Amino acid sequence: MGDCRFCEKPAGFLRYVHKECESRYKEGKNKIISLVEHIGFQGGNISSLEKQINDQALSDFIEKTELNKLIITGWEKAVERAFDDGVLTKEEEISLTALIEHFSLTQEKLDKNGAFSKIVKGAVLRDIFEGKIPERQKINGNIPFNLQKTEKVIWVFQDVKYYEQKKRTQYVGSSKGISVRIAKGVYYRTSAFKGERVETHQTIHTDTGLLGVTNKHIYFSGSGKSFRISHDKIVSFEPYSDGIGLQKDGVTAKPQSFVTGNGWFTYNLITNVAQL
Ligand SMILES: [Zn+2]
Repeated sequence: MGDCRFCEKPAGFLRYVHKECESRYKEGKNKIISLVEHIGFQGGNISSLEKQINDQALSDFIEKTELNKLIITGWEKAVERAFDDGVLTKEEEISLTALIEHFSLTQEKLDKNGAFSKIVKGAVLRDIFEGKIPERQKINGNIPFNLQKTEKVIWVFQDVKYYEQKKRTQYVGSSKGISVRIAKGVYYRTSAFKGERVETHQTIHTDTGLLGVTNKHIYFSGSGKSFRISHDKIVSFEPYSDGIGLQKDGVTAKPQSFVTGNGWFTYNLITNVAQL
């Protein structure tokens, strides 16, 4: 006779779990995840959340050591939901941050699937929509950009692929899709970035490097090429699933594109900073 690994009572010949115990354990874990998701998204009393979590764990055979992972999963789901309905609101940011502090969740674990970076990016975009210059990215090391006196760095993307194009329409099916108007800015949802990049012989991967966005310019600094473009010299923007395309003023200007890996953030950032 083996003992059930959940309730530790006899489970029967050659058996080590009761089916009921196992499903209680699984459901209990899901419940904890959704409790955290709910508070992370809607806000609420975290002390009573913690009590609920502990009660749930106790009654459903969930070990204390398992809780951290469940709380992080719930938190990630709350981030997803916060972005579902548009931008990250101040309230959503506050309740998500409160969970981090209360449960001492580490940035490293929260960012395993990119959720932590996503709220930083959401908050950066919200600052810009509100006309503020965000100071939310910690920049390590020196930035190779020759900044002007009153110029402020808003964001630096790393390992950005810079392409020069001889012809446009390298992206198929990209559309600006669903957008939301927020104060002065126009915000495009993630669903707007489904365009597929089709590389043709006219698209030349010219360099790879840092792409910096300041309140005045866009900077690029690669191993072979470095330049800056003033926001008001850009006549059009093109949203891509993994980056942005720009067209500068002037008849001879070639379309340029930057692949950052995140079109949603890059496009919303650059187009709205240009309006600051
Ligand atoms: Zn059992």
